Amino acid sequence: MVQSGPERIVVLSGPSGSGKTTLVRELVARADLKLVKAVSATTRPPRPTEVHGDDYWFLTDVEFHEKLNNGEFLEHAEVFSSGYFYGTLRSELERAWKQNGWAFLEIDVQGALKVMQQYPNAVTIFLQTPSAAEFERRLRARGTESENVIQRRLATAERELQLADRYKYVVVNDQLESAVSEICAILMAEEMVRNA
Ligand code: ADP
Ligand code: 5GP
Repeated sequence: MVQSGPERIVVLSGPSGSGKTTLVRELVARADLKLVKAVSATTRPPRPTEVHGDDYWFLTDVEFHEKLNNGEFLEHAEVFSSGYFYGTLRSELERAWKQNGWAFLEIDVQGALKVMQQYPNAVTIFLQTPSAAEFERRLRARGTESENVIQRRLATAERELQLADRYKYVVVNDQLESAVSEICAILMAEEMVRNA
């Protein structure tokens, strides 16, 4: 296992339905590097299968804003104009680095731009699907959002796609296995640069 240290940050963004959550799960389980998923805080209610502290830290509005006022967030955003806030707690980065790992952030474009300002060397990856129709198809097939919410996510996706060129890497999630391999290769190369 190669060594990791402070400031090892990976940021993954992409349209809702592009496969970010699926990829993070696979990568954390299988990469040759130590990847630690930064568990985001959110005020959105949990989906039936989601677990507090594993998928997200599910907070009330009051709890979220308390942490915000205490300066505990590296970044935060209201995502999809949904009225729900999402944010990365600085403590999640520390948790990853204490384990000698890379902090793996799966966050939206607004948050990613803020992380890029603070950590210009962060490894930033934008995930696309072979066509726009495909992330919409996957989002609908996942079956976790109402039509209203789906429409908001699709509108946001259009804006997000326009910012893909702000990321260091763009990966197309066509076959999951290939996307996993491609991201593993990116991270191994970035690790080598840091160890050089
Ligand atoms: P996101 O976190 O980007 O919103 P998810 O990881 O929830 O996306 O994936 C959306 C849906 O697409 C899920 O049902 C997932 O199983 C499926 N999916 C993910 N990657 C692929 C892929 N490469 N090919 C087909 N379906 C996929
Ligand atoms: P979902 O509600 O489907 O879990 O996530 C919705 C969106 O919120 C995704 O685009 C995801 O990348 C983004 N997101 C999740 N956690 C964070 C976070 O900590 N900060 C920001 N800015 N966005 C996040």
